[in-house]
Amino acid sequence: MEACNSYYYATRDPLGRGGDFTTAPEISQMFGELVGAALADCWQRSGSPADTIYAELGPGRGTLAADALRVLRKSGFEGPVHLVETSPAMRAEQARRVPDATWHDSIAELPPAPLLLAANEFLDALPVRQWIAGTERGVTIARDRLAFTAEGDIREDSPARDSAVAALSSHLARHGGCALIIDYGHAHSAPGDTLQAVRGHAFADPLADPGEADLTAHVDFEAVTRAARAPGVQVTLFVPQGTWLERLGIAARCAALAAAHPHRAAELAAARARLCDGAQMGELFKLIALHSINWARPAGFAP
Ligand code: SAH
Repeated sequence: MEACNSYYYATRDPLGRGGDFTTAPEISQMFGELVGAALADCWQRSGSPADTIYAELGPGRGTLAADALRVLRKSGFEGPVHLVETSPAMRAEQARRVPDATWHDSIAELPPAPLLLAANEFLDALPVRQWIAGTERGVTIARDRLAFTAEGDIREDSPARDSAVAALSSHLARHGGCALIIDYGHAHSAPGDTLQAVRGHAFADPLADPGEADLTAHVDFEAVTRAARAPGVQVTLFVPQGTWLERLGIAARCAALAAAHPHRAAELAAARARLCDGAQMGELFKLIALHSINWARPAGFAP
């Protein structure tokens, strides 16, 4: 999964209508603006520390960063932008929208400063392991094709995600700040096979064309919470994306944009519905926040 995704992201921009899948920031500017507003508010309620940096994990086209930073800059935040991204193709896209950023290969490389961090659909792209009756399920070659080594009742875990979340948490404990993690997945650890491949906006066979489809697996928010727990860090309960965006004021933002651009009113309402409705992205996608105990809890979350 890691090898396939690293080739996949290194060789294309998979986002948007002409690509393989569409993410929340690509649906509407309202998404990034509300993430930016939540970070700006948290920063201000934490005393506006001047050495704070904006950081993002797996920033895609840089759309979320650009939309969030527009709001952050208006709030008086002047800190630098640090992006954790391994794909050269995605780095080039990000440079078009956030030209003054600094890039890193891993969370450990972020400078020792308080964070205002966002990670949207980053964890789902990190590799998972699958287990059947205590044995790790592998991939082998059978008749010139890739095949799973076993079938049965599957449990998944993800050391790669756990260590990314733990690295983030330890940075927050040491240097302060807050992080919003947004992804699709389930509230509680449970058995099941959630590995999926998406290509051209449709599900594909995960083993069919290695490196040519987006491989993801549902994020286990209970596992994320476990991995995030560290002295000096507070982890909030998760909130469904629709609930969080409504709490943050997407209705007001949508109305303001529609008033300014009346010809776009229907498109804005459709985007809000796509992001918030339970039958669309509103329930499956969830947010949790991590923050240093010396920082305020971001808006929209219960402790
Ligand atoms: N956050 C963006 C893009 C999500 S796609 C959005 O919401 O639109 C996943 C992103 O994570 C891509 O930018 C991909 O190149 C990056 N990525 C995948 N694996 C990574 C890894 N191990 N380290 C850093 N970035 C990674």
